[in-house]
Amino acid sequence: MRVRVLLEIAADDGTAGAATEVAMFDKQTERPEDLGLSIAEAKAMMAVVQQQVVAAQVASWTERQLCCEACGARRHSKGSYPVVFLTLYGDVQLASPRLHRCSCQGAEGPATLSPLRTLIPGYVAPERLYLEARWASLVPYAAAAGLLADILPIAAGANATTLREHVLHVAEHAEAELGEERPCFIDGCPADWARLPIPEGRIVVGLDGGYVRNWEDRKTNFELIVGQSVPEDRDARYIGLAHGYDSKPKRRLFDVLRSQDLQANQDVTFLTDGGEEVRALTEFVTPESEHVLDWFHITMRLTVLEQYARGVAHHDEAAGARLLAELERIKWLLWHGNQHRARASIGILEEDVDGLEIDYPNLRKFAKSAHEFAVYIRTNTGSLINYGERFRAGERISSCLAESTVNAVISKRFAKRQQMQWTKRGAHLLLQIRTRALDGTLRPLFERWYPGLANDNSAAQAAAS
Ligand SMILES: [Zn+2]
Repeated sequence: MRVRVLLEIAADDGTAGAATEVAMFDKQTERPEDLGLSIAEAKAMMAVVQQQVVAAQVASWTERQLCCEACGARRHSKGSYPVVFLTLYGDVQLASPRLHRCSCQGAEGPATLSPLRTLIPGYVAPERLYLEARWASLVPYAAAAGLLADILPIAAGANATTLREHVLHVAEHAEAELGEERPCFIDGCPADWARLPIPEGRIVVGLDGGYVRNWEDRKTNFELIVGQSVPEDRDARYIGLAHGYDSKPKRRLFDVLRSQDLQANQDVTFLTDGGEEVRALTEFVTPESEHVLDWFHITMRLTVLEQYARGVAHHDEAAGARLLAELERIKWLLWHGNQHRARASIGILEEDVDGLEIDYPNLRKFAKSAHEFAVYIRTNTGSLINYGERFRAGERISSCLAESTVNAVISKRFAKRQQMQWTKRGAHLLLQIRTRALDGTLRPLFERWYPGLANDNSAAQAAAS
């Protein structure tokens, strides 16, 4: 059979235009692949519809721009120049009219104006930017460009370089909205905070770092700091930044908390690995906050020490068993928040390891790790809590949270393949998109920038059918 698809565009005053043919398909019905539109047919049809709809809209819009907004006189045309408007449904060719400046506007300023440029400043459709940003936050740029081109009639702009430019541009738009950085975000005084309504429970923020390869110097890495802020009864939010590049880390963290309705009298727990950078980030962000050494990181270090102790047991069974028992005791003491006795026990462990006289090849590494653990616990003493008590109270003490955040935010996009390399700027900006795509705030951001995106005619269509 022969299928003809016609397009009819009625003007704003309701007068119908002539129907034009959009597509014609000769379809046979012999095999499964014969049914309905093929990808190529759908792409071709969408591209024609998009071209005609946009061209008609632009013509009608341009018509309204012909008269001077100050005096109403008609401005003279000075021809037009071709532009390409990049949309999801094709790269639309348009003629952008150039108009002479109205004489009522005086002699100052440019002699001509191009009104279309005010309607579509970057000549890229917002939804195309949205989908490019969303997909590129999930898969590498080249793959995202390929996926778009697989199903959409996108030709010219569907390469990784253009797509990356668009995405970084979107991220810069978001970055430009960040307020100024401050050393301290705590305002007001305790008396004011006491008068605030009772907040909705504790917010737990897990922060951790992950490394990606440096494009500028391929032998080195740089650190991305990522985190997840989890309030008791609201949606979680991600945060991410390139350490050493981001000039507003505290503002960034503060804004995430504020987007979750943080109040000054609200308890906030920052769970980190105790690293200096993340720790500094959490200071002076909000008054009722505590910094807690993430239990996950304590147990990771203890697990390494246990492996060494098991190695010792192969050479000296009694010594190995003694060390394992000591480690078990240290873990128990730390779990119950008994820091003084834990530190004393760590001291005994250090001495015990130093005093070993066996032929265990990893003995020096063991001694080094034991010493580092002692330093780690000593420097983070103020961030140790009674983990057991918190745990029994149903509160979060470990952010497998932070660990899984690193996996979710960094590993799966930034370090998926060993050869992936990043500039600090590129990684930082893509993180701004990826964190939003993952926690569901990317689309709302676009809808705030472009309120018309929320109006997609689906309700009107449902009513018509
Ligand atoms: Zn005028």
